[in-house]
This record gives sequence, C-alpha cells and structure tokens, in this order.
Amino acid sequence: MRKRVVVIGGGAAGMYAAIAAAEEGSEVILLEKNEKLGKKLFITGKGRCNLTNNCDTQTVLQNVCTNRKFLYSALGSCTSADVMTFFEEEGMRLKTERGGRVFPASDHSSDVIRTLEKRLRTLGVEVLLDTEASGIGLQERADEDTGQGGQTNVKKGKKRPARFITGVYRKDGSFLEADAVVVATGGCSYPQTGSTGDGYRFALSCGHEVSKPVPALVPLVTRETWVRELMGLSLRNVEVKLGQMQEQGTDICGKPWYEGFGEMLFTHFGVSGPLMLSASSFVTGRIPQEGLRLLIDLKPALTREQLDARLLRDFEENKNRIFKNSLDALLPAKMIPVVVRLSGIRPDTPVNGITRQEREGLVRLLKDFPLTIIGTRGFQEAIITKGGVDIKGIRPRDMSSKYVEGLYFAGEVLDVDALTGGFNLQIAWATGKAAGAGAAGMSSDRQTYILT
Ligand SMILES: Cc1cc2nc3c(=O)[nH]c(=O)nc-3n(C[C@H](O)[C@H](O)[C@H](O)COP(=O)(O)OP(=O)(O)OC[C@H]3O[C@@H](n4cnc5c(N)ncnc54)[C@H](O)[C@@H]3O)c2cc1C
Repeated sequence: MRKRVVVIGGGAAGMYAAIAAAEEGSEVILLEKNEKLGKKLFITGKGRCNLTNNCDTQTVLQNVCTNRKFLYSALGSCTSADVMTFFEEEGMRLKTERGGRVFPASDHSSDVIRTLEKRLRTLGVEVLLDTEASGIGLQERADEDTGQGGQTNVKKGKKRPARFITGVYRKDGSFLEADAVVVATGGCSYPQTGSTGDGYRFALSCGHEVSKPVPALVPLVTRETWVRELMGLSLRNVEVKLGQMQEQGTDICGKPWYEGFGEMLFTHFGVSGPLMLSASSFVTGRIPQEGLRLLIDLKPALTREQLDARLLRDFEENKNRIFKNSLDALLPAKMIPVVVRLSGIRPDTPVNGITRQEREGLVRLLKDFPLTIIGTRGFQEAIITKGGVDIKGIRPRDMSSKYVEGLYFAGEVLDVDALTGGFNLQIAWATGKAAGAGAAGMSSDRQTYILT
C-alpha cells in the first residue's frame, strides 16, 4: 500500500521534504497555514533569495554555528551542488556572486518558489493552503517489547519507539490520517511569514525537548545611546571583537566570543550590518546583565605605530587647525564629533598643542572603538531562530524522531543554524530531503528500526 506522508509547513524545508517523499513514491499532503507557499522564501536575500552557497560540504559545515556534527550526514547526502542541479534541471538558471552566494539568474525569489511549486505539481503532491495544523495524532504501541507510558526505550537498546504517528489534527477540528508526518514549521523569526513556533509545541507534545528559541542573525542593541548620532553610517573593512567586559577599562576579558572583518552599520538602537548579524549568532541568548564589550578597529590596515605616524602627519599638515577640524581625511564626517568627544581632547585644542599622551589615547580609541552590547533586537528583525527541537531526540541520517515512530523534523524548527551566505537555506533543503525520503520509508535507518 502507498504510504501517506503529511508535511506540515510549506516553506523551503517542507516543500523539499514533500518533493523527496513524493519522489520515493509516497502519497504526500503538504499543509500550509498561509494563503500561499514560501512566504519567507519570498523575502530572502532581499527578495533575490540566496538559495545556497557554491562551495563544498566542508565549507558549508564550517559555516554552521549550532550542532554542526548532527548535520554531517544530511549535508553530505544533499550538497549545495545537488541543490543547484535540482533547480537547474527544473529550468531555473542560477548565478554565483561574491562569497559563493547563489541566486536565481533572474534575481527574483519568486522563481525559486515557482520552481518548487512546479515540481510539487508534477509529482502530484496535494497542497492544502489556508490549512493550519493544530496537533499531532499519536498512539501507544501495544507491543510487548516497547516501553511503558509512551516512553521510548531506545536507551534500553530496543529500537522501536513506544508511540507511533496516526496523523495530524487541523485547526478546523478535522483529522488527517498519516503513516508519517514531517514537521517543517520553521522557527519564530519574522512571524508575519507564518513561522510562529508551532512546531515546538508539536515536538513537546511528542516527548521531545526544545532548546530555548532566541533571535539570531539579528541587530545588536548598545548601551550607548549616542549611536543614534551615527544612524545610517556604514563602515566598510572594519575589524571587530566581541567578548566579556573587563571589570575596569574598556578591553575584552579573555578570549573574544567573536572576531570578524567586514561591513557594519550604525542604527538608532545600536549596530547592524553583515558583520554584526554574524556576531549576534555567537552571543545571542548569553549576553550578561553588565553587557558585552564590542571593540571596533576603525583602521585595521594600519598598526598602532603606523596610525600614530599617520596622525602626526595629518596634524603637521593641519597645524593651523583646531583638533575637531583635523580629522576629515581619517574618518567619515558623521563619526568625527563622536570620536572627538570620546577622545577626551578639547575640540578647540590647536593640533600642535595635542600632547603625545593624548595622541596615543586617540590611537587606542581608533583601534579599539568601544561599545557595550546589552541585547539583541527581537524575532521581528531576526533572520533566523537559534534553538529549537533538541537534536538528542532526532536521528541525523533521516531526521526521524527517536521517541515517536513516523515523526520527522526538518529545517529551522530544529536546533541548528548557520551564518549568512545561503547556508540556512542549504540546511533547510538538506534536512527537508532527508526527512522526506525518511518519511517515505526509504532511509536505511528507518528500515533498521522498523524491522527490529
Ligand atoms: C528577511 C530574511 C532573509 C533571509 N535570507 C536568507 C537567504 O538569503 N539565504 C538563506 O540561506 N537564508 C535566508 N534566511 C533564512 C531562511 O529563510 C530560513 O532559514 C528558511 O526559510 C527556513 O526554512 P523552513 O522551511 O525551515 O521554515 P520557514 O521558511 O519559516 O517555513 C515554515 C512554514 O511553515 C508554516 N507553518 C508554521 N506553522 C504551521 C502550522 N501549524 N500549520 C501549517 N503551516 C505552518 C509557515 O506558515 C511557513 O510557511 C532569511 C530569513 C529572513 C527572515
């Protein structure tokens, strides 16, 4: 008999899971609570969808921030090359940009969604829009050799979970029978796209643990409110360090939690831009009350000595000017009043009156421009969610639950996340494919535990 697979969530992971399950011969029903598929996909990559990264699996793994090892198998069986081949064979041309970022040649994310929809149609997947799943149907196994009270006894060496899937409850009260269910409901970020954390509730009801979801790839909030003066200023080619605050002074205590080079942006509440979004993934959920120290090297191409020599030269060339009017060649105009204030040097000091000590202090400020990070912005502004369904309860080969037979998870609902560059979607495709194929009963892992 044909197996019936219900996939909850019509995002990247859910659509790919539905395709994989249908390709393996299952009858597939895809539930999406929105009026259309791929609402989040549509806004990815600023509407262009950076759908993967043109690199080898090792590089993809290096860009994974949480539970890298867990993803070895899925990312190894569904590589970025496989994803690119899939889209190209479906007739969508691709292009690779800086840093290996892959986009549709058209620059339209809608082409990605259209391509997936076309494949779903060809395979006969039944797509139910405006259909919200409200719960998972479970049944206790009557088998002698399973555990009591719905508990899995995997730990005791018996491979069959004590409970199995019967189907999915819909919000309208109806019940959809299924042999297998893939939960691909996403995380909590950009909730207006439909990702409102429903999958965590489903996972908990099935005995899974959920690591606290926190916003990631998200702008950072600073204690210094004067950043507002710098709002809109983008700094290219700066080096940053983020770590624990020293009790005294403005340095970082111990090893930095994040170090990076690139572009950042000042906002009315703090800092954002690619560099700061990446930094957020290393600190979100663990920012202490006193805050974290962010140090920005505004002149990373120059050593302290070179910068000091450069200042001396600039001051020599501007010897008839006062300090506040002497930094035009060194800094963006918006930054000058702030640097002048923080330097402690009187703005109207003639440059030839600046002492060596004051100049050294200025070099320190330009090489280690300090800010205090006191939090992140919320899920509304977070590109992804860190945290989610604990991978302890999931088999890495096919994303199946160790606690409920026939239950699978895919995409951002899992406690996995990566940096920007197409890596998060690559995780969604790879875990989607593993879960879909697993749910269709083709994964060797699944066969093992069904047969034992
Ligand atoms: C602004 C923005 C830009 C991004 N740009 C990129 C990028 O360029 N490259 C990249 O790699 N990543 C990017 N990401 C991250 C990437 O979009 C996500 O990691 C990825 O979409 C996760 O896919 P998913 O299928 O797991 O979840 P989602 O895309 O969130 O899909 C989950 C789906 O499940 C549906 N759903 C939820 N609950 C239910 C329910 N109870 N019943 C039925 N349906 C339900 C939701 O409506 C949603 O459609 C971006 C994210 C954002 C917010």
